[in-house]
Amino acid sequence: MKPRFNIISLTSCTGCISTLISLDIFPQFLERIKINYFLFILDSDDIEECEIALVEGCISEETQINLIRKIRKRAKRVFALGTCACFGGILSLSNSKKAEPLSNHIEIDGMIPGCPPPSKFFGNCLINLVGNKDIILSEKNMCANCPLRGSIEINSHIKITKINPNPEEIRLGEENSECFLNNGILCLGPITRDGCEHKCIKMGLPCEGCMGPVSKDFTSNVVNFLSLIELSQELQKYTGIYNRFSKPKINR
Ligand code: SF4
Ligand code: SF4
Repeated sequence: MKPRFNIISLTSCTGCISTLISLDIFPQFLERIKINYFLFILDSDDIEECEIALVEGCISEETQINLIRKIRKRAKRVFALGTCACFGGILSLSNSKKAEPLSNHIEIDGMIPGCPPPSKFFGNCLINLVGNKDIILSEKNMCANCPLRGSIEINSHIKITKINPNPEEIRLGEENSECFLNNGILCLGPITRDGCEHKCIKMGLPCEGCMGPVSKDFTSNVVNFLSLIELSQELQKYTGIYNRFSKPKINR
């Protein structure tokens, strides 16, 4: 029997679902599963029972809490799809809106992080799900395999003054030979999970952390990391560094 899937969007830009539909393997994926609920391509009325629920987006409204509990009840396995569902995501930058990950309200069986999840990694995750396997995440950080790691030097003499290089300083791929931190540019590679094949770094931009932390909570990891280096006064006032993908976990 083909595994039945429910694919659901909560509060999001729908970038993860758009990426899913654009994957080269999407047609084969569709052939090997049965879609029960996926409003992007099917006019479904209700969330029926399924083997796998893939949920994109964060929880930002009270009504979504009941919805996510219903999704959990009707699925054998639930996976958080994308940074918003895994950690809260970009809405965490809002002062007025909540942005909670699924795991604040239900037990999840795994996650497919990324903003959006990188195509190769995403495709491999889908193959695992169709084969009833778990999703395996790297236990290494982004620096472990970074092409610029040869020059990394984390110490308190490093003064970070920018979150991005100036446009004229952006160098693609191998032209960029030095770790961003050495040039005073904040790169969250040391606390971010490997798995995106260094997408931003190869485009000449530092890692912002969208694959999430290798361990524990994103914000506490950022705080610990920043205590090892010196941030300019201007950046010290920018709370977006801490809240870009996740707000500190609320104790219930
Ligand atoms: S800090 Fe960033 S640029 Fe430097 S080695 Fe780590 S991931 Fe690469
Ligand atoms: S380099 Fe960092 S911000 Fe860019 S895709 Fe990878 S994890 Fe996300």
